[in-house]
Amino acid sequence: MANFSLNEIKKKIETFPKKKLIHLPTPLQKLENLTAAFGGPEIFIKRDDLTGLAFGGNKSRKLEFIIQDALNKQADVIITWASVQSNWCLQTATAARKFGIKPILLLFKTDELPQEYDGNLLLDYILGADIRIRESEKGKVVRGEDVLEMVEEVAHEVREWGHTPYVAPLGGSAVGGSMEKPLGAISYVSALAEMEEQAEALGVAIDYVIHAAGSGGTQAGLAVGAKTLDKNCRILGISVSESKEEMAGDVLAIARDTERALNLDLDLRQEDIIVLDEYVKAGYGVVDRDVAEVIQLLFKTEGIVLDPVYTGKAMVALVDLIKKGYFQKQDRVVFFHTGGTPALFPNRDRLIEFLK
Ligand SMILES: *Cc1c(COP(=O)(O)O)cnc(C)c1O
Repeated sequence: MANFSLNEIKKKIETFPKKKLIHLPTPLQKLENLTAAFGGPEIFIKRDDLTGLAFGGNKSRKLEFIIQDALNKQADVIITWASVQSNWCLQTATAARKFGIKPILLLFKTDELPQEYDGNLLLDYILGADIRIRESEKGKVVRGEDVLEMVEEVAHEVREWGHTPYVAPLGGSAVGGSMEKPLGAISYVSALAEMEEQAEALGVAIDYVIHAAGSGGTQAGLAVGAKTLDKNCRILGISVSESKEEMAGDVLAIARDTERALNLDLDLRQEDIIVLDEYVKAGYGVVDRDVAEVIQLLFKTEGIVLDPVYTGKAMVALVDLIKKGYFQKQDRVVFFHTGGTPALFPNRDRLIEFLK
């Protein structure tokens, strides 16, 4: 069983080179008003929405490592894919532009999600990303064989132009495409260490971290970080799309790759990966009343803006778990704000419908 100090784990992560893209450490703040509103547990927020690249978010942490990997491989074009309002695609395209790499985005649309040039898609457009819109299955994040085939076609086209493509897998965590190591998850091992260092400075021990889970890389990194540091801190992943079995399977696979990449011997098990899927509700990206109301609650009580696709759902989960007595009054819970705020604007109609 591995058990490393903060400095030892930081040294291991430093063996993976990265490009500076963002402001670190992101703040760890106590949510005084929200804590008082529920009378415990003590609630903190880790502001990964304030990373500073475009509108911030967890993907920019991952991209520090991924852009370096693309540059090491002499890539001058980066290809990635996700849904139309994807934070990942905007963040990737932004990071690519900054290092002179041309971004190509395969964006999958579904009827129930907004598809106009607004939010992230507007920003992709302003960046001059090569945007290719495709159809996808209702209520699902895009995955599967057909997507990989489409991406390979684009990579082929890029090679024919005489350029070098880097295929960055959706979410930036699962090994695949041009990425041989789970670089995104490694950046979240680092984020957990960063949070623990801040918690130590505040003199508090963190009992739970709660965050939105999509491709699973953030949770994999946080879970590996917590176990490596042997902290008694449980990571609660709130699925925004998949069933808990599917999500936990993805997270565990990425976590095991992360363990291997960092040369750890953690013996991670399925029970180390806690995923809740009851907050997916109407499906990926579909705004409901609970999400609209919780966005309003956090904005009014703390002046912090959540997004309607990821962090809104994770905050619905946190509030619900508090009301159900999931936590002890004296527990300390960190809500990881993973970004995503541009998606508020294309969802204006549903937000107003529920809040008027
Ligand atoms: C992608 C994303 C997540 C989920 O992160 P994964 O590492 O893909 O699980 C959470 N919140 C926001 C805002 C995101 O864009």
